[in-house]
Amino acid sequence: MRPAQRVTILRSLININLDLKKLILFLAISVTVITFLNGFYSSYQVQKQQLQQQTLKNHSAYAAKLVSATDRFLFAAQQQLAYSAKILASQFDNEDTLVQEAQRLRLQTDSFNSTVIVDKNGVVLGLSPLSLQLKGQVLESDGAKQALTYKKPMISEPYISVTGNLIIFISHPIFNLQNEYLGYIGGTLYLKKKGILHDLLQVHFHKDGSYIYVVDKNRRLLYHPDVSRVGEQVFNNPVIEAVLKGESGTSEVKNSQNIVMLAGYAPLKSAPWGIVTQRPLDATFAPLDDLMMNVLYRTLPVGLATFVFIWVLARLISKPLRQLAEAAKTIDKPSTSQQLKQVQSWYFESAELRKAMLKGVSIMQNQIGLLRQEAQTDPLTGLHNRRSLDAILAQLTDSQTPFSVLALDIDFFKRVNDEFGHDIGDMVLQSLASIIMDVTRTTDFVARTGGEEFIVILPNLNASTAFVLAERLRMRISETLITPVGTINVSIGIAGWPLAQLSIEDVMKLADQSLYKAKRTGRNRCILDSQYQYVELSAAE
Ligand code: GH3
Ligand code: MG
Ligand code: MG
Repeated sequence: MRPAQRVTILRSLININLDLKKLILFLAISVTVITFLNGFYSSYQVQKQQLQQQTLKNHSAYAAKLVSATDRFLFAAQQQLAYSAKILASQFDNEDTLVQEAQRLRLQTDSFNSTVIVDKNGVVLGLSPLSLQLKGQVLESDGAKQALTYKKPMISEPYISVTGNLIIFISHPIFNLQNEYLGYIGGTLYLKKKGILHDLLQVHFHKDGSYIYVVDKNRRLLYHPDVSRVGEQVFNNPVIEAVLKGESGTSEVKNSQNIVMLAGYAPLKSAPWGIVTQRPLDATFAPLDDLMMNVLYRTLPVGLATFVFIWVLARLISKPLRQLAEAAKTIDKPSTSQQLKQVQSWYFESAELRKAMLKGVSIMQNQIGLLRQEAQTDPLTGLHNRRSLDAILAQLTDSQTPFSVLALDIDFFKRVNDEFGHDIGDMVLQSLASIIMDVTRTTDFVARTGGEEFIVILPNLNASTAFVLAERLRMRISETLITPVGTINVSIGIAGWPLAQLSIEDVMKLADQSLYKAKRTGRNRCILDSQYQYVELSAAE
């Protein structure tokens, strides 16, 4: 970032009136929000992971359970056929028995959609239901041929039967006591129609999007909730590949509709089949939204309380500093000390700042006082100077206070300097100042306005009294011995304000003129301005 850019950003920050309270609020709230979001996000992630793992575990357990139930069913079906085969071994020539046994097997156990008893040439001897009308015919189906060829208990691959149904054929050979092959007894399971396989698997069909399918070793669907897909072959599905290798487990996999599924799978023992149960990933995470909303609702009150707490605390922390900053704006004013004393600095830094500011203010005020006094004082005599005199005159005119004025100048002061030196001259000036202070009252103002020139302002004193005072002062000076100089004399001009039509400057000029008149007329004397004298006389009359 270039310095110019930094300055612009800083300016815009200043423009939004950045103060400590806002900064604390910003800091605290951003930390709170980040912490909250972080907690929220990580708990979301943890929940998600747990949900996924739990779902995979459930489906794997579920697949195993279904496998064991299906295995048990197939085993029971084969046992039933074996039992019938044993009974029929000695009665194979009794046609009625064959028909009845076929009927009993189908109706009593509900295991098969149809049953059939076939002799060693493939001719149907008994069947159920009779409506199939296959009696006396030779069965040409795959299952029938395989049963005749292998002469052992079998579960066929799915095939389309003569009656046009997609079926699985379970069969058991019949041998007589001499161990001669007589034929076989078999039962069919219709894959696309309701039957025991549907009952077994569909019971577990979930409303949450979970479903089950069964595949045989040719990747053909033996069972699927979408009946139209039964018989379809599914390739390139890693879960099917795994289960057909005899593996059981869990996996995240895309189904044929490209939907991501969480799947559990297990292979059957009694047939080269695999069962897969799965659930869409999205459906698995659906409850998470509710859960997180719940978390949000529950954390909201504490969040709000935290916000209020931070807000109040930010105010409390920033308040003394803000007050100190406000006081700093008017640090040159005398009221600042009082303002600072009222600041409640309740923590270390603000208390120290307040202490330092109070100390600073007091030092500064003293310094200002001293400077002010110095600026108004004549350094040699400690009397008022010209600037101070102007302020006094302004005050008197403002308050319309009448006054008399004495303009005083030392006679032949040059000689003092010439004879005794400048330092002694200064000492004489100091002595003269103390004499004037002594003779005048505390309510009078005495100023040194030039080298050896003085002005005395006598508020509320009329001309004749002022003249008497001036005379007394002149006498006193001329009588006072100032070693090593001896005595000095002064000349004094007297005027007064208000004088009709005349400004204060003019009155001061009149006093000066009277002084020069005194000088001209022999020095060591007091002269009252003639106009002033006239006004006074008029007033007296
Ligand atoms: P006069 O007023 O009677 O006409 O005679 P003067 O000798 O007093 O004459 P003027 O008032 O003109 O002279 C002022 C002298 O005062 C000049 C200077 O030497 C002396 N002076 C002025 N300021 C100071 C000062 O601060 N200290 C000392 N020691 N002398 C000063
Ligand atoms: Mg002079
Ligand atoms: Mg003089």
